[in-house]
Amino acid sequence: VAKKAKSGNYAFYIPSMDGETQSRLKIIRNLQQDFKREKLQVWYQPQINLVTREIIGVEALLRWQDDKGAFISPEVFVPLAEYSGLIVDIGKWVLAESVRRLKMLCLLGYENFRMAVNVSVLQFRDSEFVDYVKYILDIHGVPPSLLELEITESVVMDEPEIVIQSLQSLKDFGVSIAIDDFGTGFSSLSYIQKMPLDRLKIDRSFVNDLDNGKNAFIAQAIVNLGLQLGLTTIAEGVEHEEQAEQMLALGTDEAQGYLFGKPMPYTELRKFVLAQNSDKVVQEDT
Ligand code: C2E
Ligand code: MG
Ligand code: MG
Ligand code: MG
Repeated sequence: VAKKAKSGNYAFYIPSMDGETQSRLKIIRNLQQDFKREKLQVWYQPQINLVTREIIGVEALLRWQDDKGAFISPEVFVPLAEYSGLIVDIGKWVLAESVRRLKMLCLLGYENFRMAVNVSVLQFRDSEFVDYVKYILDIHGVPPSLLELEITESVVMDEPEIVIQSLQSLKDFGVSIAIDDFGTGFSSLSYIQKMPLDRLKIDRSFVNDLDNGKNAFIAQAIVNLGLQLGLTTIAEGVEHEEQAEQMLALGTDEAQGYLFGKPMPYTELRKFVLAQNSDKVVQEDT
């Protein structure tokens, strides 16, 4: 009887669901289907050394196209993948796919190339996550030092003890850790000295509005914090030469943004990387 009443309640709530809830559920269903049908992609965006302007690695970014070929923004579907729990399986796949590509780059002769992969809070709650990362690196025979995991401050604040343990275990294995969108989360700074971190990614909201003196001060403070704690910094969302120069002047080591390259499929990345290298050969020859 209780069950009947419950399902009765459930049925009662469906018509009252607002349009927004229904469209969210629809997106989740489609995402699940397209993931199963292997229709998701991983694209790669260059990360460069600000001094030499050479590509030193990439960030792996999920891409999802609807039936008409239009891209659905990860800003829309990643939160829904997290909400539904789908991100755990999708995230494992992104990791496997990215490390597979990293291996291909190693075989092309890029043995110091870095692959940065975004990891969500939910993946850290999966007790098998750390072993999975190690397993993927092992089966491809890729040096763990080439893999970087990007976490947000929300991961750090989630369950600090468990997260610190997982990060430490990954770090001991050789994987590096970056804090994504640094400066935008709601968290205390004290975690920075408790976590085994390698890099701070300076959020693009600071980088793309450096003419606002306050943003420039914040960017400078992040760079100084990094320098004093032995962490490297990378500027996100660099679109203009001026921003690249300003970030370099502030002491930032690396950058990522449309100025240097947009996210692209692996086949294009391969060309991108090879083209840079042929330039170098030409320069050295002449
Ligand atoms: P994020 O990790 O901070 O990734 C950087 C975002 O900035 C990407 O957006 C990238 O395309 C964009 N971007 C890079 N350079 C520029 C620039 O010069 N100008 C501007 N306007 N934007 C730039 P994207 O690909 O739409 O991804 C959005 C967010 O979705 C990511 O932010 C990340 O939080 C999440 N995401 C993407 N792929 C994954 C994934 O595989 N796993 C998880 N958990 N989250 C992901
Ligand atoms: Mg990221
Ligand atoms: Mg970011
Ligand atoms: Mg972001």
